Amino acid sequence: MNVQNIMTNLEAKHPGEKEYLQAVREVLESVEEVYNQHPEYEKAKIVERLVEPDRIFKFRVVWVDDNGETQVNLGYRVQYNAALGAYKGGLRFHPAVNESMLKFLGFEQIFKNSLTMLPLGGGKGGADFNPQGKSDAEIMRFCQAFVYELWRNIGPDQDSPAGDVGVGGREIGYMYGMYKKLAREHSTGALTGKSYGWGGSLIRPEATGFGAIYYVDRMVKQNNDTLVGKRIALSGFGNVAWGAATKALELGAKVVAISGPDGVCEIADGITKEMIDYMLVMRASNRNKVQDMADKFPGQCKFTAGKKSWCVKVDIAMPCAFQNELAEEDAKELIANGVKYVAEVSNMGSQPGAIKAIQAAGIPFGPGKAVNAGGVATSGLEIAQNAAHFNWTAEEVDAKLHKIMNDIYDMCVKYGTQADGHIDYVKGANIAGFMRVADAMMAQGII
Ligand code: GLU
Repeated sequence: MNVQNIMTNLEAKHPGEKEYLQAVREVLESVEEVYNQHPEYEKAKIVERLVEPDRIFKFRVVWVDDNGETQVNLGYRVQYNAALGAYKGGLRFHPAVNESMLKFLGFEQIFKNSLTMLPLGGGKGGADFNPQGKSDAEIMRFCQAFVYELWRNIGPDQDSPAGDVGVGGREIGYMYGMYKKLAREHSTGALTGKSYGWGGSLIRPEATGFGAIYYVDRMVKQNNDTLVGKRIALSGFGNVAWGAATKALELGAKVVAISGPDGVCEIADGITKEMIDYMLVMRASNRNKVQDMADKFPGQCKFTAGKKSWCVKVDIAMPCAFQNELAEEDAKELIANGVKYVAEVSNMGSQPGAIKAIQAAGIPFGPGKAVNAGGVATSGLEIAQNAAHFNWTAEEVDAKLHKIMNDIYDMCVKYGTQADGHIDYVKGANIAGFMRVADAMMAQGII
């Protein structure tokens, strides 16, 4: 494989699809050396096949808002690769959603799902719908209209969507209700992230954040260090930051910053249980303002408008909100302030320049597709429980999640340890994820 040739062809075929091209380039650069040791991959054009999705559904979603106005949005589902299992991946509701964004997320999802070692193919979907400021009834009508179009193309053995940015338990509930009505069957595995009691798994809401902290705990231990007392900056205050803050507090670390589109909230003495609970209220309000935390806990929190979490002096930085949120200048500020570890939890949360700066400074960097894989892994566990019509206890799910994250970490070390002994977690995650998919594609023939 010649990465540059492949990228030149892809750029010509997909002009302007910046994030998709960035995600593909990172994976190809990581796997190039290993790939070239397998002439059979080259002959079967594994890479050329892998970079294009199996198919993309794009559809109109029409719904009526509370004022009786008709609203039109665009919905998508990218079914990327099914070598390892039925398509699996989240749905993102955000005004910036477009086909290119979902292609990059779907591409990343293939390797992330592969790392979990569960039978999960890669997919992603969503809509350019903005949940901010919408009433509960509007959210319900939108979710119903979205599934009314998509329902024939999902199912436990076909494609199983879940939540992502803008899609949480409430939205999954509305979508599952409509799916069940149309399909005339209780195929619970058709969507994951369901509430406990009608198909959901315990620990699924916490899983992405818990898994991320389990991974970071291993990064810290690798350096004979401890999480206890470490100062952590998170970005966002959504489901992922909430789960990470919960586990960080439990393990004795201090979350000293969270953020929103409006600015940063610094918590000098570390986040408390009451604040973590309040994050749920903030999310449910659809206001998307982190200032609400400072207003609720004055004296303990300090809000600064227009600033990010990365200006706070911390030991560990964890982007938890959106792609490319950690810019090169943010990374440089973190480094100057003595950051010891960076682990992105958002998908492709860091810009390439930021990753380069962190790695060049000798600071361990954990990539999103490994660090955040606990979410989709627990979705896989949810599907397994659905198929068995049975629920594991919270302790059982958590123990399985912990083991999966430990195994992912070990794979990253195995494939990412360089000749000089340092660990390139990005490379390790990409190689481990890629090899499993490539071998499955080889075994299943040219399809
Ligand atoms: N949206 C999450 C992710 O990026 C979860 C996907 C899932 O559970 O299917 O992996």
